[in-house]
Amino acid sequence: MCGIVGYVGERRALPLLIEGLKRLEYRGYDSAGVAMMEDHTLQVTKSAGRVAVLEQMLDFDGSKATTGIAHTRWATHGAPNDANAHPHTDASGRIALVHNGIIENYTAFKKYLEQKGVVFATETDTEVLVQLIGCRYKGNLEKAVREALAEIHGTFGIAVVCSEEPGIIVAARRGSPLLIGVGQGEYLVASDASAILAHTSQVAYLSDNEMAVISADGLRTTTLDNIPVTKDIQEVEWTLDQIELAGHDHFMEKEIFEQPEAMRNCMRGRVDLGEGKVHLGGIADVAREITRAKRIILTACGTAWHAGLVGEYLFEDLGRIPTEVEYASEFRYRNPVIEDGTVVIAISQSGETADTLAALSEARERGALALGVVNVVGSSIARETDAGIYLHVGPEIGVASTKAFCGQVAVLAMMASYMGRRRHLSQSTTQEFLEALARIPEQMEQALENSDQAKTIAEACAQRENWLYLGRGYQYPVALEGALKLKEISYIHAEGLPAAEMKHGPIALINDGMPVVFIATQGSQYEKIISNIEQVRARGGRVIAVATKGDHGITKLATDVLYVPHTLEPLQPLLTVIPLQLIAYHAAVTRGCNVDKPRNLAKSVTVE
Ligand code: GLU
Repeated sequence: MCGIVGYVGERRALPLLIEGLKRLEYRGYDSAGVAMMEDHTLQVTKSAGRVAVLEQMLDFDGSKATTGIAHTRWATHGAPNDANAHPHTDASGRIALVHNGIIENYTAFKKYLEQKGVVFATETDTEVLVQLIGCRYKGNLEKAVREALAEIHGTFGIAVVCSEEPGIIVAARRGSPLLIGVGQGEYLVASDASAILAHTSQVAYLSDNEMAVISADGLRTTTLDNIPVTKDIQEVEWTLDQIELAGHDHFMEKEIFEQPEAMRNCMRGRVDLGEGKVHLGGIADVAREITRAKRIILTACGTAWHAGLVGEYLFEDLGRIPTEVEYASEFRYRNPVIEDGTVVIAISQSGETADTLAALSEARERGALALGVVNVVGSSIARETDAGIYLHVGPEIGVASTKAFCGQVAVLAMMASYMGRRRHLSQSTTQEFLEALARIPEQMEQALENSDQAKTIAEACAQRENWLYLGRGYQYPVALEGALKLKEISYIHAEGLPAAEMKHGPIALINDGMPVVFIATQGSQYEKIISNIEQVRARGGRVIAVATKGDHGITKLATDVLYVPHTLEPLQPLLTVIPLQLIAYHAAVTRGCNVDKPRNLAKSVTVE
C-alpha cells in the first residue's frame, strides 16, 4: 500500500532511489529501506521512521551500485520496526524483495516453509513471499518469481533482485500499481510516477497479472503465465502535484474515491464466500471470550464514534449482545461499571487518539477484555489491546476521515457476523450478509457517480449557515457523520439527529430554504422517514434525500435526490455516507476552505 522505486542502468543508483523515496513521502509511511547490488553483493539497509533516518545510515560516496530497489512501508502485518521494514531477503541472502500489498495466505505458507527449515526474521506477510521465491530459485529469478506468485493469494506490486543475476530487476503486479520508467540506457520501476519523473516521463504501466524484467539492455513484459505482452510507452503529462493527488484536487477527494479499493483491501482474506464465514486472525486467540461476551462497550471519538454507533446496532442486531457506544472522553472519567464478560472495543484511525487510549487502559484495569479497531499497525492502541483488527484501508492523509469510517464500519460488520454466527445466526443468513458485504465495493463505485450532482447541491446551498441531517435506525449515525463532515471542512453549522427527534425541538429551526438532508433509503423505517420529510417540506425546508435506486416516488417530495444502490439495511451506512462526504467536500471547495487541513483540526488528536 505504500511506495516502491527501483533502478537499473549505468548511473549510481543510491541517490536516485533516495530521491525517489522522498517523492513518495506524501503517501504516508512508517519505515523505509533500500537493497543495493554491486557486482554479486547485495547490501540491504532499512530502518523504521523517516527516509531522512535511512539517509543517515547510507554511504553515498561509497556505493557504486548501479542496480537497486527501495521501499517506503505502510505496515499491514507486523509492527513498523527496523526488522519488518522492506526490502526483505530470503534465507540464503541472495534475493531481496520490496512489496506493496497484502499476502492473504501467508500463514499457510509460513508453516510450510518453517517445516522445510526456513527461519523467519520478520513478522511480515511479505517475508513469506521472498522465502518462497528463495525456495523455488534454481538459477533463474524470473522463473522463481513466477512460480511463487502462482501459489500466493492477495495483492502485490513487487520488485525483486538477486545477487546471482546482477543488473536485473523482476517486477510484477496484481492489485497494487506498478509502472516502468524508460530512460536512455536505464530503466526504473515505481509504484507511482512521481518517484521517477525527475529522470524520465516515458512510462509503461503494468496491468494486473503482468510481469516485467528490466536490465540496462531492455524491458521485457509478459503475463504472470509467461505470455509475452507488448506495452505502450506513454508520456506522463501530469505534474508532480497532480500525480500525488492521482488527478484529484485534494487528498480528501482522492480518499473518498479510493473507498471501493479500501473496502476490498479491508475484506481481503477475511470475507470467505466459499465457506460462508469470516476469518479474523487478529481476534482468533480470544474468540471464545468474545463469543461468551455478556456486554460490549465501543469507545471512540468523532467519526470513529459514529462508526461505533453503527457497530452498536450491528452487534445487537446480528450478535444479540447488549452493546453501547461511549465517547472515550466521557467513559474514562465517569467511573464505568465493568462486569465480568465485558468486552471493550476501542476504535481509532490513528491508534493514537489520547482519549481513546486512556479509556482503553481504564477498561483494562477494570478487567475488561480490550480489543482495538485501528488503521495504523503498531500504533499505541494496537499495542495496548489484548487483540484487534486492522482496517487495512491504507494511509489517510486528509484530516477529515472518510475511508477510515467505512473501514471501521466494515470491520465492525465483519465482527458482528463473526460473533453472530457463533451465537445464533444461521448459516444462510450469514452467507446472505457476507455476499451483500462483498458487493459493497462495486456498489460504492455506483454511489460515487453522484459526485457531480452532490457538487450542484453543495453549490446551491453552500451559503446557508445552518443545515440539518436526519436519519433513522442505521442511518442515524450516518446523519451524524454527514453533519460532522460538513462542519469540519466547510465551517457550516450542521446538526445530525434521529429523524423522529426533530419534532421535539429542532423543527423550530426550519425556515424557508434551509437545507435538510434526509437519509431515506428503503428499509424498516422508510414510511416513517417519509412522514418526517413531509413535516420539513410543510415548513419550507429544502429537502435533500439520499434514497435507494429505483425509488422514483421520493422525487415528488425532495428538491434533490442522490441515489445509492440497494443493500441490506445494516450495510447501508457504507453506501449512504458517500453522497454526504461528497456534499461536504464540494461545499468546502465552493466556500474556498482548505479541505485537507481544516482550521483548528489535527489528523491525530493526541491531546485530551
Ligand atoms: N504487507 C506488507 C507489510 O506489512 C507491505 C505493506 C506495504 O504495502 O507497505 O510489510
